[in-house]
Amino acid sequence: MPHAPEASPEWFVHRWYRTIDIADRLEQMAAHDFEMAGRITDEEREFEFIENWPKVTLVHKFARIAADDMFYNETDGPYIPKVILRQQPAGMIRYEHYLTATHALMHYGIDGPIFKVPRSDEETVLEKDGVEVLRVSDSAADACYRHFTEELRWSEPYEQLLDVLADEVFHTVFRNRTLLYALNWIAAMIVSGMEPDERTAEPRVDKLFRKGSPGRLKRKSPPVWAQRAIFHRDAGRCTYCKKDLSGLHDSMTPANFDHMVPLDAGGLNDATNPQLLCQRCNLEKSSRQVNSGEVYLCWYPQDRDPQ
Ligand SMILES: [Zn+2]
Repeated sequence: MPHAPEASPEWFVHRWYRTIDIADRLEQMAAHDFEMAGRITDEEREFEFIENWPKVTLVHKFARIAADDMFYNETDGPYIPKVILRQQPAGMIRYEHYLTATHALMHYGIDGPIFKVPRSDEETVLEKDGVEVLRVSDSAADACYRHFTEELRWSEPYEQLLDVLADEVFHTVFRNRTLLYALNWIAAMIVSGMEPDERTAEPRVDKLFRKGSPGRLKRKSPPVWAQRAIFHRDAGRCTYCKKDLSGLHDSMTPANFDHMVPLDAGGLNDATNPQLLCQRCNLEKSSRQVNSGEVYLCWYPQDRDPQ
């Protein structure tokens, strides 16, 4: 791609492969919080969610699950058509079809197993809305399912794909504090439900918990990179009273980075949990229940008459 910036620690290339679809799946997860917490526990993945200030945040972890669900669900279609121009007879068009996951690998230029949907018994059906959809026989759909579940899903290129998609989803939803808050409550359910005797098998996780207090993590100050991200996301303003804190950037304390889901409720030390607060609002927070996630600073003031 000409003139595309190189990926670096400061910049990344966002290629938007159904990022919004995957983000929408995070909304669905948040709406089904009990089921989601139960699923993670059933799959014995709860330890993955408990780290202090990981750069691969809670949102990255949920986005990987959401993207994997999407690819899995689409192993029986719809398949993605790609036009093949034939030389003989000149200009004749035919289509090859790919699984969504294979198509995504090609979209990002990740070298992975290229699997074409088998052509046996396929037919193109005109749907009600006038869109042509490829229908394949059960045996072809079974081959797609087997390729995904037995080969692709366990491959290194697929891991790379999920990493890239998780980054793109994170950058898209990090400003959505309402969603971050809801996802952090799912994590809090997982943390709260973890008994001391379950943790002893995993010393790395066990030492993050407060002694004698099941299901509560120790307080750890956010690292500088997380403080910087939260400060810029919240435009340097207290998310409650909107006070401009930008002049105080150098004198901020961890108290300015308030856990939306409190540690005392099972909240995580994760970059997606804090919001920026002034000292006064942080002190008064316990007596106020404000949903700060729905209020954003405009890029520029709108001229509409107030409603
Ligand atoms: Zn304030």
